[in-house]
This record gives sequence, C-alpha cells and structure tokens, in this order.
Amino acid sequence: MNESIHGERTASELQDRVTELVEQQTAISEVLRAIANSPHDMQPIFDAILDSATRLCRADLGVLRLSEESGFRRVALRGDRLLVSRAGSSFPVLAEKGSLPSRFTTSRLATHIPDFTALLEGDHPDDHWITAVNVGVRTGLTVPLLKDNEIVGIISLVRKQVQPFTDQQISLFTDFAAQATIVLESTRRERQYREAQMALAHANRVATMGELMASITHEVKQPIAAARNNARAALNFMDQNPLDLGEAREALGCVVDDADRAGDILDRIRDHIKKVPARKDAVAIDDAISEVIALTRAEAANNSVSVRTQFGEGLPRVQGDRVQLQQVMLNLIVNAIQSMRDVEDGNRELHISTVAIEPEGVRVEVQDTGPGLNPESLPRLFEPFYTTKPEGMGMGLSICRSIIEAHGGRLWATGCEPRGALFQFTIPAD
Ligand code: ADP
Repeated sequence: MNESIHGERTASELQDRVTELVEQQTAISEVLRAIANSPHDMQPIFDAILDSATRLCRADLGVLRLSEESGFRRVALRGDRLLVSRAGSSFPVLAEKGSLPSRFTTSRLATHIPDFTALLEGDHPDDHWITAVNVGVRTGLTVPLLKDNEIVGIISLVRKQVQPFTDQQISLFTDFAAQATIVLESTRRERQYREAQMALAHANRVATMGELMASITHEVKQPIAAARNNARAALNFMDQNPLDLGEAREALGCVVDDADRAGDILDRIRDHIKKVPARKDAVAIDDAISEVIALTRAEAANNSVSVRTQFGEGLPRVQGDRVQLQQVMLNLIVNAIQSMRDVEDGNRELHISTVAIEPEGVRVEVQDTGPGLNPESLPRLFEPFYTTKPEGMGMGLSICRSIIEAHGGRLWATGCEPRGALFQFTIPAD
C-alpha cells in the first residue's frame, strides 16, 4: 500500500519535473531566438529574458538591471501594465549603491521576500520598502547575475499579491538566470568586440590616409616650390627694362617642367597603389556586407539611422579581395550615415541591397535619405581630394572607385527623388 502511494508520488513528481524542464528549455530558447532575430539591438534580448522569466515563475512584473560603475541601470521592465508604469516612475533608472536593488546583491544568492507589507511593521520602516509597497509590490524574488563570481546584473520578479514563490520556482529561476547570464554576456562581449573593430577600422583608415597625405605632400611640395620660384623669376624678367623675353620664356619653361614633375609624382603614387596585388577569392558578397553593417551598427544608432537590407536570391559569388570590397562598403555606409546627420524631420534611412545582374555578376546599392548630390558636386565626387566636409580628406570615393575598377566593376552615383543619394557598384562573378 505504502509502496504504491510512494510510487504514484514519484511518478507525478517526475511529471512535474519534466514539465518544469520543458518550460525552462522553452524560456531559454526564446532568449536565443531573440538573439538570432536581433543582430544589432540588445533591447529585444533584454525584453525576451524578462518575458521568459516572468512567465516561467508566474510573476506579474520583471525588472532587469545591468551593473555599471555607479550602480545598476534598469534596461528592461516588463509585465503588468499598471505595475510597469508605477515602478517605472517610482524607482530611478539608475539604482545607486545602497539602494534597494543593490542591497539584494550582497548575499550573491537569490533573495526571496514573501511579504513586503510585513517589512513595514517595525518602528522605522525603510523608505525603499515603503516605495515598493506603494507601487504595489507584495512578493519579490531577486537573483544576481554572476559571471566569474562578479555581479553583472540582477533580475527581480514581483507579484502584486502576497503569494510566496515556491522552492521549485526559486531554483527554476536561479537556473534560468545562470543560463541567461551566459547568453547575455557572450552576446554583449561579441557586440563590444565588433564595435571595437569598427573603431579600429576607422582609426586605421584615418591613419593610412594621414600617412598617404604626408608622403604626397612631402613629394609634391618641392616641385610646387620650384614652380613658384621660376614663376617669380619670369615676372622679374618681364619687369626688366628692356624686357628680357628669352630669360622669361626659359623660366616659364621651367614652371611647365615643375608642374609636369608634380603630375608625374602623383601618377607614380597612383600606379604604386594600383600595383598592390588584390587577392582574388570567391567572395559571398552578402556575408561580407553583413559584417560591415554589423561594424557600423553603433555609428548608425548614434545618428538615429535605421538600416534596411534586401539581399537578392541566389547571388553568384564575386571574384575579388574580400577586405578591399568591405573597405568600399565601409566608405559608402559611413558617407551615407554622415550625409544624414543634419536631416531634421527624423527620416534617416539607409537601404542596402544586392541584385544578380547579367552577364554574371552582382550589383550593390547603397541608398540614403540625406540631402543628396547637387549638380555641381556630382561630376567631382570621385576626384581625389574633393570633399565638402570640414574634417574630410576627399580620398574615400576615389579609392573606392580604384578598388572597384581593379575588380573589373564600375562605381557610380546618382541623386534620388525626393531626396538622398544612391551609390551603386557592379562586380563580376567568380
Ligand atoms: P570625404 O568623406 O573625406 O569627404 P569622400 O571621397 O568619401 O571623402 O566623399 C567626397 C564627397 O562626396 C563628400 O565630402 C560629400 O560631399 C560627397 N558625398 C559622399 N557620399 C555622399 C552621400 N551619401 N550623400 C551626399 N554627399 C556625399
């Protein structure tokens, strides 16, 4: 008799455990799905973590805070609408050290408060507890998110009725929080790494340009100075009385030679750049472009630019140097983002698309909603040193065109209606 009761219990316990595990698995899968669907933005991931945690433990409200220098910053607040709005306005976004959320982390363990109202019964109830009760918090459970024994954040779950969490729910929540921390931290780290890469790519570009400029300046300065001296000499000969036309002509001839020399130096530098052999790999252009978009994510977000992509079906691989092609994309994207900085009506869209073209190849389009290209600048865009930016060098588009032409393709720009610019390039297939 006893055995059969015992046996039945075990079976139903096992059933409960299976249900719990399935729920926990579903909860973490939802977080992973959010990560896969949101390559650029962390917010949907924070929200998915909280939605899953509140559902898993049947809570009414969830709060996720991440650790920073001065305390814990609230990055997501989800659940019962009224509670969300009250908690949002009653608790500061940054919970400083010593405040209620940060006090929950001292033990590094889950903190369960079955009944908040009971905490108000002493003579000197704490202000933080009073606020929580006024907001409508009755039962609370907080778990620190630990990474290598460091607290990287906290998740709190709240119920609006006094209804303590069960031991099972507490352990379920603790396990979920541990898994969510791993996912959250590796995603954060990977994204920080991408941002650092972008900053590096920028710095590299500027440094290379700076060096190039310095050497061009150095080499070209000399014939220009000589030309100036010879021109001045020619003027002096012309001022002489009687006029010495022979000497003046000779000096002007030297000016022409100096100018030719400056031109030759520039041609030599250009030939030298062209001679650097480009790698010829079979490049999946969509992947290469996606990487650059990921690199420029922060730049776009900081300038409130939304990025849309539309990659063509069944694109052939193109033949070329993946890094150089990415450099072209980086330039076009950064230019597009910069062009939209002063757009005032808030419509800042960057649209990047690829299409297969005949004969075998791919066309890439980068379109923005910036001020566009005026008729005077259009023919000059690809000239070296043409820039309208105070800090610009005007080398970007000229280098982009050299790269694309070295790949056997074409790069051109057109204005768009009602506004914006469209840069397009073609690349032959592998
Ligand atoms: P830089 O960015 O240093 O100015 P570039 O060669 O990349 O050099 O660009 C040259 C010029 O072309 C820019 O200064 C700007 O006037 C113009 N330009 C480039 N991209 C755009 C764009 N998307 N919209 C409007 N103007 C652009």
